[in-house]
Amino acid sequence: MDLTAEYGHILLLAGTFEARVLAGKLADTFPDTRLTVSFAGAVSDLPELNAPMRVGGFGGVKGLQSYLASEKVTLILDATHPYAAQMSWNAFTAASHLKVRLIRLDRPHWKPQTGDTWQSVASLEEASRTFPRGARVFLSVGRKDVAAFYRRTDVFVLARMIEPPTLPPPAGWQVLLSRPPKDVFREVQLLRDNEITHVVSKNSGGASSYAKIEAARTLGLPVIMIDRPSLPASETAASSEALMDLLARTFTQAGR
Ligand code: NAP
Repeated sequence: MDLTAEYGHILLLAGTFEARVLAGKLADTFPDTRLTVSFAGAVSDLPELNAPMRVGGFGGVKGLQSYLASEKVTLILDATHPYAAQMSWNAFTAASHLKVRLIRLDRPHWKPQTGDTWQSVASLEEASRTFPRGARVFLSVGRKDVAAFYRRTDVFVLARMIEPPTLPPPAGWQVLLSRPPKDVFREVQLLRDNEITHVVSKNSGGASSYAKIEAARTLGLPVIMIDRPSLPASETAASSEALMDLLARTFTQAGR
């Protein structure tokens, strides 16, 4: 299979577990196609990948357009996080302008199961208003978004994130620097040890951060679930496997 002609240069917008998986699959399946994996640079421990990487923003839509044109990108795969709306919109706008094909990996939402008590909120700000004075809150919204909760000095917060927040949190809050474990038992233990009463989460989908939701269910704790931002109407695939199938199918059809 020679995808070189069809997909001269693939730009993979990364930042998720699925993006890492995709990078490996693309490099293995299409070894003759140029692939660049792009990271925002929010975390310093970048993965080891068998593909060239670039780190940092492009400089908005204009910067991205220049990059796409100068690097002759022919396919953009947007495998950023479902809450990385700015990057997804920038990619959509730049791709539409230059008529470059764009496929977004859209992880299915988590859906409430029997035993879940979810309160759906539209924004971080709304989430920050939901819990009562004296609550003990487990927050896992990412280091960039944690500051939206800083005015709540009347609650205890255990905030988990991969790297420290830019601004220090209020006195009495606890910051836990860690990736989310997949082990539900460890999450139950964490929530129990800290006497957590409310869990705040994004509806990230996927398996890598779902254990906290299962733990909240186990302990009968309410989850304040922040709605996803609206994303552009791009072509989508629900998983890395589905995306690879889509690419293979497209190529087969094009080659007929
Ligand atoms: P964002 O708000 O959509 O992006 C902000 C800017 O970061 C973009 O405009 C772009 O800068 C740059 N950027 C983002 N992803 C990039 C990539 N893969 N390659 C190069 N540049 C990239 O997204 P965010 O600030 O990264 O994250 C927003 C929320 O999403 C976070 O609070 C976090 O919870 C969650 N999140 C995002 C990612 C991710 O994949 N980006 C991963 C994990 C979690 P320019 O405009 O200069 O090009």
